Amino acid sequence: MTFKDLNIIEPILKALSAEGYTQPTPIQVQSIPILLNRNDLLGCAQTGTGKTAAFAVPILQHLFLDHKSSNNNQRKIRALIITPTRELAIQISDSFTAYGKFTGIKNTVIFGGVKQGQQTDALRRGVDVLVATPGRLLDLMNQGYISLKDVEYFVLDEADHMLDMGFIHDIKKIIAKLPTKRQSLFFSATMPADIVDLSRKILGNPQRVTVKPEQATAEKVEQAVYFVSKKSKPKLLVHLLETEAVESTLIFSRTKHGADKIVRFLEKADISAAAIHGNKSQGARQRALGDFKSGETSVLVATDIAARGIDIDELSLVINYDLPNIPETYVHRIGRTGRASASGIAISFCDAEERAFLRDIQKLIDQKIPVVTEHPFLVDGVDDKPLDEEKPKNARSQKSGNGGGRNNGWKHRKPTTNKQR
Ligand code: AMP
Repeated sequence: MTFKDLNIIEPILKALSAEGYTQPTPIQVQSIPILLNRNDLLGCAQTGTGKTAAFAVPILQHLFLDHKSSNNNQRKIRALIITPTRELAIQISDSFTAYGKFTGIKNTVIFGGVKQGQQTDALRRGVDVLVATPGRLLDLMNQGYISLKDVEYFVLDEADHMLDMGFIHDIKKIIAKLPTKRQSLFFSATMPADIVDLSRKILGNPQRVTVKPEQATAEKVEQAVYFVSKKSKPKLLVHLLETEAVESTLIFSRTKHGADKIVRFLEKADISAAAIHGNKSQGARQRALGDFKSGETSVLVATDIAARGIDIDELSLVINYDLPNIPETYVHRIGRTGRASASGIAISFCDAEERAFLRDIQKLIDQKIPVVTEHPFLVDGVDDKPLDEEKPKNARSQKSGNGGGRNNGWKHRKPTTNKQR
């Protein structure tokens, strides 16, 4: 299957090829025909699957073929994408710019935490596509800078995350201002009842597309777990970072305080690291992310909310310093590596209190995560008993078929990628 087989028009094909995309990902294969047919879509997929292109490409194609945006001051906002975080909003806007670079379709991005002047200037100059976080969007609507009356294409991205962040009232207010005649797309990594409920308020008669997290997890990412006491986690982390020649490591911490603590002990060990979380200013977060992407800092420590959806090509390793209590979060985290075009490695630290979390994760991904049996901080005694009373296995991925030998085959692998940003 190629993008051409999906009836994508030449200017967009050219841009996709320039991005290094040779073939569409499963979510793109499934969604693009539905969207080009102007149907509503309910997409159950996480970031990392190629979801952005799955919606951006058909929207750009419709806008291009409709030929309405011929000159700047006639441009109206005809496509609106709302997404929960600034980082995601910037990434989506960058994707529209990349995929649409030969179409003449203009987009801009708005988000809170910064002065609004540059954003309102861009809006005044005229855009076809607006990517926004909910709070700033409502704010600028209330100030009269934005009208949604010409919106024909509406995307609600990461709906479950939106609800987790308490955006439900903002979303309802935004929906109320949209024209009823429109194409709507709704994406969520998980589909609990409140999300299904919200989707019904937004979508007409949607077609459903699901890319299972198990697929993303099992096929792309080599995983391993280290049983370690809470006390020894810092030492194990320093040990791993010091002994492994890994180019870029993203470390997840459950809390903001925890993330800062990790950065402090890494710095004590002479490992340069930066943290991103909600207590950091927008500037500090962008700087930390920029330094990490450019390779200036090789270790980034993040909380789930700050890191969700962050798109870092060439990410070598994800470390779950804490295991998340929500199994889907594990899938989101390890999806930071093993992006659509890359393979990756994810290792998890698991202390006694986290055994139950590990059990839930393994149930969700329907896979046993291999245990690393050789490391200096292995927990002994009762605590060392692996799940289900089994003997620890070597840390080779069962799916990767590496088989036998020492248990840390992940150490020497580097991700591959088609695309360099
Ligand atoms: P997303 O899920 O939209 O965040 O995409 C994840 C990553 O996959 C991004 O780095 C995209 O640039 C990349 N990507 C999306 N579609 C493709 C494709 N068809 N081929 C290769 N890479 C892709």
